[in-house]
Amino acid sequence: MLYAVVVCYTQNPCDIPFSTLVSNFNNIFFKPAFVLGWTINEFPAFANTRTLSTSKTNSIMSTITAYFIPAKKFPLGQFTEKVKDTLEKLNLIDGYYDEEDNTYAHGRAIIFEYATIHDTDKNKLVPEASSTGYGAICIQCNAEVDEELYDVINNYYDYEGESGKEKDMAGLTLTCNNCNKSMKLQDVKFTLPVMLTKHFFQFVDIDDEISEDVLKKIEQNLDTELRVIYERM
Ligand SMILES: [Zn+2]
Repeated sequence: MLYAVVVCYTQNPCDIPFSTLVSNFNNIFFKPAFVLGWTINEFPAFANTRTLSTSKTNSIMSTITAYFIPAKKFPLGQFTEKVKDTLEKLNLIDGYYDEEDNTYAHGRAIIFEYATIHDTDKNKLVPEASSTGYGAICIQCNAEVDEELYDVINNYYDYEGESGKEKDMAGLTLTCNNCNKSMKLQDVKFTLPVMLTKHFFQFVDIDDEISEDVLKKIEQNLDTELRVIYERM
């Protein structure tokens, strides 16, 4: 006999009607003997665990994300409009992917999952995640501190996901496991392409690196050179 245990993995209250769950199981899988439903907070074993991490480092998909960082400094708030106009004009974006999240759908020129634009007074560490490492080096003993950095980044994105607020990542501190030196992210040395920046835009999940031709057109329209950093997950 098969038993199905269904845990409604959403916030309280469960937003999938119980009858829907039961009928789906009846139709698609098998005839259940019992179907039990809980919300996450009611189920004791999960009461103190968190739901899925907001960090992209937990993703199991293999993806390339391209980050574009302008050489020129833009006044706060003007970067978004300028980038939006440019990407629309070049058929790189076409409307929203998700209006609430401020993500943009790809246009006809290049295929990607979605695009975002970061334009605040808070520095972000780019790339936001990495499965190939950051090449972070302790300022005192020169030991590699990638592991310590991952912890800091994951904690930061947990904070951001839960609070909905952004902090300047330049001021986050990590402590070297080798020599115990504490250092700010802005002082850490990196042997791989990494940047702290207030302004950037990104294409998430592209198939290939951006061609020189496309990059030149974006640079011309934005009137700035762009540094491109790839994140491979
Ligand atoms: Zn050290």
